[in-house]
Order: sequence, then structure tokens, then C-alpha cells
Amino acid sequence: MIDHHRIALVTGANKGIGFAVARALAADGMTVLLAARDPGRGDEATAALRAEGLDVHRLTLDVSEPGSVREAAERVETRFGRLDVLVNNAGISGGASQTPGAADLDTVLAVFDTNVFGVIRVTDAVLPLIRRSSQGRVVNVSSGVGSMGNMTDPAHYMSRLPALVGYPSSKAALNALTVQYAKELRPYGILVNAVAPGACDTDFTRDLGYDLTRTAAEGAGIVVQLATAGPDGPTGGFFDDDGPVRW
Ligand code: NAP
Repeated sequence: MIDHHRIALVTGANKGIGFAVARALAADGMTVLLAARDPGRGDEATAALRAEGLDVHRLTLDVSEPGSVREAAERVETRFGRLDVLVNNAGISGGASQTPGAADLDTVLAVFDTNVFGVIRVTDAVLPLIRRSSQGRVVNVSSGVGSMGNMTDPAHYMSRLPALVGYPSSKAALNALTVQYAKELRPYGILVNAVAPGACDTDFTRDLGYDLTRTAAEGAGIVVQLATAGPDGPTGGFFDDDGPVRW
């Protein structure tokens, strides 16, 4: 385990898996920048974690707004000077209007803008700060539905999920991005991985009508594992609780 003080930024951290990751990283001793696009929701979540005695600070950051991302990166630089851990967690499903042949293209664009381009925006904005860390870690919160292997394996339940143009493709693109960032940053000791948190009971899945028992805290486990990996940890991989996930 890494032993000295670390600073982590988690996007979309006001609720769900991001909130659980923020709580777990802060409980592990990190200073956590709880990034939320809505200042009110961010304040509420930050206050809840500070009431637990955790070192958590609200950061306003909308991953789909270049100005917001730039301002957030500037605030981190001014206040903290570096960043050790970035968790790209913010994501949207886009809802059900994504059937191949009848997809709403604006919805698909919005899904990619948040789940893929948002990750590039945020990562590139804070990368100079991560390069100042001796133990940079980037964790991209992907999904098992981003796995081509799962989607094309008749024995895997995901191959029988309804076909969607946007969300699964966005997570497959995020996996591909993860490999490229890992390739670029490996020489600097910055480890970049994608994770599949598993199907968790959050507003995200409730909106899709799923009734799940896995908690956001359980989903956060693999994120925290990669965010706190030591120098010999993996990079350029895709992981869930059981280990590597096939691409
Ligand atoms: P959630 O409860 O809906 O939380 C999503 C978070 O992302 C919220 O904080 C939301 O903010 C934020 N967000 C959305 N668009 C944003 C933007 N443009 N800028 C900044 N923040 C934004 O969902 P979740 O289940 O925790 O999902 C978190 C991540 O896990 C997502 O990437 C999702 O794809 C992935 N995932 C989830 C599951 C699951 O079963 N839950 C499974 C696999 C992967 P607001 O509150 O302001 O909307």
C-alpha cells in the first residue's frame, strides 16, 4: 500500500458509486475532492462525509462543460498543487431511446459526451497535476456491458440484454481510451485502469427499472482497489471483483 498523504478527485461523486468511492478513499486517509456538477448536491454530499470526520472538499465540475472542467482544474492546482488519484466516475445511461435503427442521435451524442469525451476533458485538464504525483492513479468507471467478449458470448447474460446504440458502445470506447492513456503514462509510473463495478442499486439502475441488491459501496470496492494500487499494480487493464475482465 502507498503510505503518504494522497489527494483524490472523484467525478460524479454526489451520489451512487462515486459517493461511495469518495467515502472509501477518504476513510483510507486521502483528501478527497468530491466533484459534482450541481453545487447544492455537491455541498450536501460533502457535508455528509465531513460529518463522518472525513477530509472531503466539494469541487464543482460538469464533465460535459469545458469551462467548468478548466475552472475545476485551476482550483485544484491553486489549492492543492497536485493530484494523486483521478476517478472518472460520472456517467449517464441515456435511457431507453437507443435501439439500433431507431436511436435518438442527440441522446447517443449526450451519452458519449459524458462517458467518453468527458473523461478525456477531465483527464487532460488535470494530467499536469497528476504528473506531479509520484504515484498517479487513474481509474475509469466502465461497465461489463463495454466488454465485447461479454456481449458476444451466447453463454453470458449480457449478450441477451436489449441492444443499445449508445451506452455499451460508450463504455467500450472508454475501455479503448484506458489502454491508450495507460500506454502514454506508463513511463511516468501513472497507472490507468478501467473497472466494472457490477450491477448496483443506484438511481442509475433504478431509472432503468432494475431491482438490484448489490450496493454502491460494494461496487466501489474494485475502484478503490485500483485507486490505491501500489507501484507494481496493473495498468491498461479492465477489472471487476473477480479479476481481469475480457475486452
Ligand atoms: P448515479 O447514481 O446515477 O450517479 C451518476 C453520477 O454522475 C451523479 O453524481 C451525476 O450527477 C453524475 N453526472 C452525470 N452527468 C454528469 C456530468 N455531465 N458532469 C458531472 N457529473 C455528472 O449512477 P451510478 O450507478 O453511481 O454510476 C456511476 C458510474 O458507474 C457511471 O459511470 C456508470 O456508467 C457506472 N456503472 C454503474 C453501474 C450500476 O449498476 N449502477 C454498473 C456499471 C457501471 P447528478 O446527481 O448531478 O445527476
